[in-house]
Amino acid sequence: MASEKEAAIAVAPSDAPTIFDKIIKKEIPANVVYEDDKVLAFRDIAPQAPTHILIIPKVKDGLTGLSKAEERHFEILGRLLYTAKLVAKQEGLEDGFRVVINDGPQGCQSVYHIHVHLLGGRQMNWPPG
Ligand code: AMP
Repeated sequence: MASEKEAAIAVAPSDAPTIFDKIIKKEIPANVVYEDDKVLAFRDIAPQAPTHILIIPKVKDGLTGLSKAEERHFEILGRLLYTAKLVAKQEGLEDGFRVVINDGPQGCQSVYHIHVHLLGGRQMNWPPG
């Protein structure tokens, strides 16, 4: 299987529907840990930490990635980060956690539907790879 980095380099940025649309529509299963009318949070299928959750908007509205953000996205961008905080508390990440938004091929983005990675449950390193 290609590494996450190879997959990210191979995937062309696009506004086409992604696998996350299928998860939102419940067409494929996901381990959902939080849901409200605006956002969905589910466990990453290839976890990079004991806790690895993706938080996505239910409506993409052009937000394939953070680099496509416009002023109309202020509310949803804030909501994604606030949801990361809520889920971190729900997951018991009292000692800290990391949030990551990969953008574009060099940022190692492989799914073009904006998502916040919430990682925790182990000591993180800096600088990131
Ligand atoms: P990124 O590389 O930042 O675009 O992150 C995409 C993430 O989606 C990766 O960490 C993948 O492991 C994850 N992923 C891809 N397909 C699924 C899926 N069906 N369910 C859960 N996570 C997925």
